[in-house]
Amino acid sequence: MRIYGLDLDQAGRCIHYHLSVDVAAMKCARCQRYYACYQCHDALENHRFAASNKDDWPVMCGICGCLMRFDQYQLGTCPRCGHAFNPKCSLHGQIYFK
Ligand SMILES: [Zn+2]
Ligand SMILES: [Zn+2]
Ligand SMILES: [Zn+2]
Repeated sequence: MRIYGLDLDQAGRCIHYHLSVDVAAMKCARCQRYYACYQCHDALENHRFAASNKDDWPVMCGICGCLMRFDQYQLGTCPRCGHAFNPKCSLHGQIYFK
Protein backbone atom coordinates (compact mmCIF):
# COMPACT_ATOMS: atom_id res chain seq x y z
CA MET A 1 0.00 0.00 0.00
CA ARG A 2 1.45 3.36 -0.94
CA ILE A 3 1.69 6.56 1.03
CA TYR A 4 0.56 9.78 -0.61
CA GLY A 5 2.12 13.20 -0.11
CA LEU A 6 4.37 15.92 -1.46
CA ASP A 7 7.99 15.01 -2.26
CA LEU A 8 7.98 11.87 -0.13
CA ASP A 9 11.13 9.96 0.65
CA GLN A 10 11.09 6.16 0.75
CA ALA A 11 9.83 6.13 4.34
CA GLY A 12 6.94 8.51 3.72
CA ARG A 13 8.46 11.72 5.02
CA CYS A 14 7.04 14.81 3.29
CA ILE A 15 8.08 18.41 2.75
CA HIS A 16 6.33 19.44 5.99
CA TYR A 17 7.62 16.76 8.37
CA HIS A 18 10.98 15.17 7.67
CA LEU A 19 12.66 14.23 10.90
CA SER A 20 13.86 10.65 11.38
CA VAL A 21 10.74 9.93 13.46
CA ASP A 22 8.26 11.35 10.93
CA VAL A 23 7.35 8.03 9.37
CA ALA A 24 3.70 7.56 10.39
CA ALA A 25 1.13 7.94 7.60
CA MET A 26 -2.48 8.76 8.48
CA LYS A 27 -5.60 7.52 6.74
CA CYS A 28 -8.30 9.89 5.56
CA ALA A 29 -11.72 8.36 6.25
CA ARG A 30 -13.18 9.91 3.11
CA CYS A 31 -10.70 8.86 0.39
CA GLN A 32 -9.22 5.92 2.37
CA ARG A 33 -5.70 6.96 1.37
CA TYR A 34 -2.74 7.06 3.73
CA TYR A 35 -1.11 10.48 3.68
CA ALA A 36 2.20 11.65 5.13
CA CYS A 37 0.31 14.52 6.80
CA TYR A 38 -2.96 16.42 6.57
CA GLN A 39 -1.27 19.36 4.85
CA CYS A 40 -0.16 17.11 2.00
CA HIS A 41 -3.66 15.65 1.84
CA ASP A 42 -5.40 19.00 1.67
CA ALA A 43 -3.00 20.20 -1.03
CA LEU A 44 -3.57 17.16 -3.26
CA GLU A 45 -7.25 16.28 -2.68
CA ASN A 46 -10.37 18.34 -3.29
CA HIS A 47 -11.70 17.77 0.24
CA ARG A 48 -10.39 18.36 3.74
CA PHE A 49 -8.74 15.55 5.70
CA ALA A 50 -11.42 13.46 7.43
CA ALA A 51 -10.48 11.87 10.76
CA SER A 52 -10.55 8.06 10.89
CA ASN A 53 -11.99 5.91 13.67
CA LYS A 54 -9.34 4.91 16.19
CA ASP A 55 -10.01 1.22 15.55
CA ASP A 56 -10.14 1.50 11.75
CA TRP A 57 -6.36 1.14 11.16
CA PRO A 58 -5.81 4.89 10.91
CA VAL A 59 -1.98 4.73 10.90
CA MET A 60 0.60 3.07 8.66
CA CYS A 61 4.32 2.82 9.41
CA GLY A 62 6.33 4.32 6.54
CA ILE A 63 9.28 2.06 7.28
CA CYS A 64 7.64 -1.39 7.14
CA GLY A 65 4.05 -0.77 5.99
CA CYS A 66 2.50 -2.12 9.19
CA LEU A 67 -1.09 -0.91 9.85
CA MET A 68 -1.94 0.17 13.38
CA ARG A 69 -4.90 1.02 15.53
CA PHE A 70 -4.66 4.27 17.47
CA ASP A 71 -3.83 2.54 20.75
CA GLN A 72 -0.86 0.80 19.11
CA TYR A 73 0.36 4.04 17.51
CA GLN A 74 0.06 5.85 20.82
CA LEU A 75 2.70 3.57 22.36
CA GLY A 76 5.25 5.56 20.34
CA THR A 77 6.95 2.84 18.29
CA CYS A 78 5.94 0.59 15.41
CA PRO A 79 4.68 -2.80 16.68
CA ARG A 80 6.44 -4.60 13.82
CA CYS A 81 9.75 -2.83 13.10
CA GLY A 82 10.16 -0.86 16.33
CA HIS A 83 10.85 2.49 14.64
CA ALA A 84 9.99 5.47 16.86
CA PHE A 85 7.22 7.89 15.91
CA ASN A 86 7.23 11.64 16.43
CA PRO A 87 5.54 12.30 19.80
CA LYS A 88 4.56 15.80 18.62
CA CYS A 89 2.10 14.29 16.15
CA SER A 90 -0.33 13.83 19.03
CA LEU A 91 -0.74 17.62 18.94
CA HIS A 92 -2.74 17.06 15.76
CA GLY A 93 -4.71 14.12 17.16
CA GLN A 94 -8.08 15.75 16.67
CA ILE A 95 -7.37 16.13 12.95
CA TYR A 96 -6.37 12.52 12.41
CA PHE A 97 -8.50 10.49 14.82
CA LYS A 98 -12.03 10.40 16.15
ZN1 LIG B 1 -9.20 12.30 1.90
ZN1 LIG C 1 3.07 16.89 4.41
ZN1 LIG D 1 7.23 -0.30 11.11
